[in-house]
Amino acid sequence: MSLKSWNKFFYTISFRLFFWYAVIFSTSCLLLFAVIYQQMKQQSIHNVDEAMLETVRELKGMFKSAGIKGVINHVQLESEISQQRKKFFRLFFNNGKESQTFAPSLWQALTANETLLNNTWENGQSEFETIQIPQHRSMGRITYAKINKDLVVQMGFSMSQEWRMLRRARQMFIEILLIIVLPLATFIGWLMARHAMREVKQLDAVAVAIAEGNLKQRMSISAHPTEISQLSITFNTMMDRLQLLMTEEKEVTDNIAHDLRSPLTRLKGEVEVTLSSPRSDDEYRHNLESVLEEVNMLQSMIDNILDISSVESAVLTNQKTINLNEFLATCIDIFSFAAEDRQLTIKLKCPTNISVILAPMYMRRAIANLLDNAIKYSSSGNDIIVSVSQTAQALMITVKDHGIGIAPHDIDKIFQRFYRAESCRSTPGTGLGLALATAIIKSHAGTLSVTSTPGKSTTFTITLPKKGNE
Ligand code: ATP
Ligand code: MG
Repeated sequence: MSLKSWNKFFYTISFRLFFWYAVIFSTSCLLLFAVIYQQMKQQSIHNVDEAMLETVRELKGMFKSAGIKGVINHVQLESEISQQRKKFFRLFFNNGKESQTFAPSLWQALTANETLLNNTWENGQSEFETIQIPQHRSMGRITYAKINKDLVVQMGFSMSQEWRMLRRARQMFIEILLIIVLPLATFIGWLMARHAMREVKQLDAVAVAIAEGNLKQRMSISAHPTEISQLSITFNTMMDRLQLLMTEEKEVTDNIAHDLRSPLTRLKGEVEVTLSSPRSDDEYRHNLESVLEEVNMLQSMIDNILDISSVESAVLTNQKTINLNEFLATCIDIFSFAAEDRQLTIKLKCPTNISVILAPMYMRRAIANLLDNAIKYSSSGNDIIVSVSQTAQALMITVKDHGIGIAPHDIDKIFQRFYRAESCRSTPGTGLGLALATAIIKSHAGTLSVTSTPGKSTTFTITLPKKGNE
């Protein structure tokens, strides 16, 4: 592996997870061992101290029963027979001015700790210290105890046995750490990192597959939810949405191509027929007029597409407070001739006191399209009713006609650009009106919905939030 690859490896989440797990696990074990070791050491010292205090009690008893001589005999015997402990005794008389030592060879170089000795003379309290026996590697425990007001004993017990045991324990801990703990921590850390990163790797594989064009790939969601599962769910939802958008986008493109092709074919046909033989001025005029009609239709279609895009991406700044009743009356007015032509009556049912904040220029186009549809897809002699109702949170404007209605399989699709129900294709239109109306209403934070009974009636409802609206 090159230096760069190593560098990359050290920065991976897997490595960091695994590394920190191993470090924390090993450090915890080390600390645990340290605590146990300390306990063992304390216990050993405590045991030796107990034994020393016992000897002090014996010496005091001896002093009481046999005087100083008894004590001397006792310590002499003790220092001679003590095999493992290699006991050391030094008796101080006469306020420390005279002393007598009973010591196996181990302790030859031992002197007295003047501070502790003085403490004992003055306070009568037993003092303890742990030392390395001079000129030897062994450790020893020393006590200074007052037997009588004229007699203090300095006593030394070798602790080489305990220290050997502690050294062995220390070695054993290090061996356990190196042979068992470290490899185990490394292995468990590696397993954990692998497990934690498994879903991330899967997510990566799915993303690569999607990038290569397989849009149907999705993350599998594990039965035991983790943070990554939540990410996977979000990822899948995002991909569903993207796929839907792309399908819709494709449908729109197909529809545009289809809807542009028909008028262009007609245009081409008309121009070719016109050019195929010499014609009179009237014939030329007539043909050019129908070419102009087709061009106008194409232009309005392209204008509508551009309008939808601009409304979808723009923030409506020119909003103002208007009286809803007056606003709707003007919208209806524009369509009164078209309605009359088809013997339709447009009725308005709106309280006169409702004010609303909106961009009138845009909203007029949305309502105009609903009215245009209601007129286009109604049978003659019926009513079209525009009514307004409100709740505490919203304002509803409905446009109801008694026309051909919308089949259930068309109802979800009519808001898509260029979609036109089969039954309506003979009526002129581009299939963009509702898409534009939806974009306008959405930019007012509202919604456009529809209910319909085929052959009977259709009701479009604009719902606008009341926030900021009176
Ligand atoms: P354009 O509005 O661009 O002139 P259009 O009216 O066909 O054309 P939309 O207003 O988007 O386009 O309507 C889409 C389709 O929804 C219509 O073609 C029609 O099939 C159906 N539709 C809309 N309004 C009604 C209605 N009031 N009654 C029955 N069908 C309707
Ligand atoms: Mg329309």
